[in-house]
Amino acid sequence: MLQTTNHRQRKKLSWAISSIVSLWVVCGVSFVGLKAETQIEPVFKVTNEKKLLYKNQAILSNPTKPKPKSTKQTEPTIALICDDVVTQRQIDKLKATKLPITISFLPPTFRHKNSAKIAKGVANYMVHYPLEALKRRVEEEGTLMVDDSYETMLARTKQLKAWYPGTNITNNHTGSRFTSNEQAMDRFMRSLKKLNYIFLDSRTIGQTVAKKYAQKHGVKLLQRDIFLDNIPTRRYIRKQLKILVAKARQNGRAIAIFHPYGISIQTIETSKDILKAVKLVYIKDML
Ligand SMILES: [Zn+2]
Repeated sequence: MLQTTNHRQRKKLSWAISSIVSLWVVCGVSFVGLKAETQIEPVFKVTNEKKLLYKNQAILSNPTKPKPKSTKQTEPTIALICDDVVTQRQIDKLKATKLPITISFLPPTFRHKNSAKIAKGVANYMVHYPLEALKRRVEEEGTLMVDDSYETMLARTKQLKAWYPGTNITNNHTGSRFTSNEQAMDRFMRSLKKLNYIFLDSRTIGQTVAKKYAQKHGVKLLQRDIFLDNIPTRRYIRKQLKILVAKARQNGRAIAIFHPYGISIQTIETSKDILKAVKLVYIKDML
């Protein structure tokens, strides 16, 4: 009888212990599970792989948590284009700045025969397409005129592609008469489309119709925001750089054109105090 009572008591005791253990295990597991679901970093020591897993679970199980913002989307960008480049010396000076400046080459003429050959040593360049100006001062050989036929324009565009195979971006050199002429721009954009060129309108005249005909022919269009060195002085160029940065901050990006004058290159190189507010990129990285 005494033995039976003891047996019953032992049974009760063992049932109580196993219940407490089960309860502790269940609570413990739930507690761990809760931590893994809601906390980004678990408090206990785990391997790096587990930490990553918990991080991912926490992000997945909490859709309201804002994703980390990409700085690429918000950082204002600027492209600097140096027009009218024709010599190796100009390239060397631009490279020495160590800034991502896009070089725009004038096609070869009797005055600068090597301007296509020297492009082979440049990684990021574009073609500077001479188009007719309202005032003819010194005109580049091979400048396209408003009365040129589509065939003439296409032949010239093909020639530029053969000289400068490393780019599909072109911007106009001069062109105040040409880019404001509807018929000429219609034919011109058709020729650019044929060679898959992207056109950067230098905007040498306010009445440019580049946008209208780029849209008509499906040519991708970029536009110059500012000329940096219309007055080639340090004071003026720095003022223009500040306007450029303000434009980039306002619109997310901005495109500037300058020329290979010593003062322009020197001022840009020594104006990192202004340019540090934005990200400088090659024009191809703005597409
Ligand atoms: Zn030019």
